[in-house]
Amino acid sequence: MTELGTPARPLRVAVVGSGPSGFYAAEALFKAGPEVRVDVFDRLPTPFGLVRGGVAPDHQKIKNVTRVYDRIAADARFSFLGNVTVGRDVSVEELRGFYDAVLFTCGAETDRRLGIPGEDLPGSFTATEFVGWYNAHPDYRDRVFDLSAEVAVVIGQGNVAMDVSRILSKTVDELKTTDIAAHALEALAESRVREVYLVGRRGPVQAKFTPPEIKEIGELAACDPVVAPEDLELNEASRVELEDPGNKHQRRNYEILREFSRREPGAKGRRYLCRFLESPVALEGEGRLERVVLERNVLKGDPGNQWAEGSGDTHSLACGILFRSIGYRGVPLPGVPFDERRGVFPNRKGRILDGETVVPGLYAAGWIKRGPSGVIGTNKPDAVETVECLLEDLSSLEPSVRPDRAGLVELLAGRGVRVVDYEDWRALDAAEIERGKAKGKPREKFPTVAAMLEALDSQG
Ligand code: NAP
Repeated sequence: MTELGTPARPLRVAVVGSGPSGFYAAEALFKAGPEVRVDVFDRLPTPFGLVRGGVAPDHQKIKNVTRVYDRIAADARFSFLGNVTVGRDVSVEELRGFYDAVLFTCGAETDRRLGIPGEDLPGSFTATEFVGWYNAHPDYRDRVFDLSAEVAVVIGQGNVAMDVSRILSKTVDELKTTDIAAHALEALAESRVREVYLVGRRGPVQAKFTPPEIKEIGELAACDPVVAPEDLELNEASRVELEDPGNKHQRRNYEILREFSRREPGAKGRRYLCRFLESPVALEGEGRLERVVLERNVLKGDPGNQWAEGSGDTHSLACGILFRSIGYRGVPLPGVPFDERRGVFPNRKGRILDGETVVPGLYAAGWIKRGPSGVIGTNKPDAVETVECLLEDLSSLEPSVRPDRAGLVELLAGRGVRVVDYEDWRALDAAEIERGKAKGKPREKFPTVAAMLEALDSQG
């Protein structure tokens, strides 16, 4: 049999998910040496995953990383198969027939739940929905967020919570020249929200947000940060954490919060209130959210390992809208083992496991491998680790029976799936940039898959 990874029989890898991890995995395969073909799948016609659909519109610079991905995509060994949902349009089993290895980089597509009464009341949303909506992700085009109440609450203190709360606190002028979705800008222009609460279950030293994100809150055009000095009082273990030389960003966060706490009561109009050591225990209201019941917490445990425990002391905060931003989890895919507890594909260094046994030919990288943590760049070494494992396994991989992309595209066409390739994406990209020009925006995204396909059709 011809050896895999040679000019006579290139290694064929399907990468499922075209976010940062998908591109870094492709890059690692190209750099590694063996003759390889990498087909990157995405359920959307557009690539880049959370760089397009997650990174906040007012953080445009972070999106420049797509230039790196464009360079990877320019490699002749790369193909993009957009608008193809693995698990629906083609099964994992079928993909394994077309490829020697399948590498999942499909991220963490859903939210963790609080598990409290009232969580699903109208007016209570996940961060994912709001982020997808303002970033013109087609899944969330039809969401309606009622911003007519004065108080909005965001639960969680990670960087996603910072994005959500900052977008709620910005003026239209601060957002209108970003690539925010037109429908979101319109709704935010009518927003009557005047107070945004950022509620963390632990203290200011344990907050997960990073210094640039909290610093930005002090620089908003029409919103003042509010931090109560007593909320910055620390227990002994938190003081130890703060002094730990390894906790530089926690120290910087704390300094910024202290600076906020010393500010004179602001007069900008809106207020951004950071609250610590509070957990929601119920969401209440007649048919829709009217208030959140918060329980005061105390920290327990050793420095670096403190958790929040309810004190029994509760109070209500009236609010019209609430966003749960407490982390993401992956979703199961038929044909791939799933770790229900962690919300990831169980794996060892990227090799997917069924119990303790490696499943030959299946790999994972990025959030579906390690859970939702780290910044965009974290996914590069993570993808490299997985690709190293894949290449170590090269001689034992079961070669695909049908190493033929055209055959797969034909199969998909027979199922009514229109595959969008990278050239199509470049056309969409150019059209979005053009649509943004008149508005002074870097781009105006197509908000639905139908609009994207229509734009492609109209270009012939
Ligand atoms: P995250 O950083 O893990 O933050 C999750 C937050 O939810 C934490 O404050 C956590 O508190 C809290 N939480 C979890 N369970 C809770 C519960 N049951 N009740 C109350 N609070 C709860 O996750 P994320 O914000 O979703 O971000 C995901 C990753 O993307 C992170 O690595 C983040 O840095 C990254 N990201 C980066 C940027 C950026 O660089 N600008 C932007 C967006 C996202 P505990 O700490 O107590 O667990």
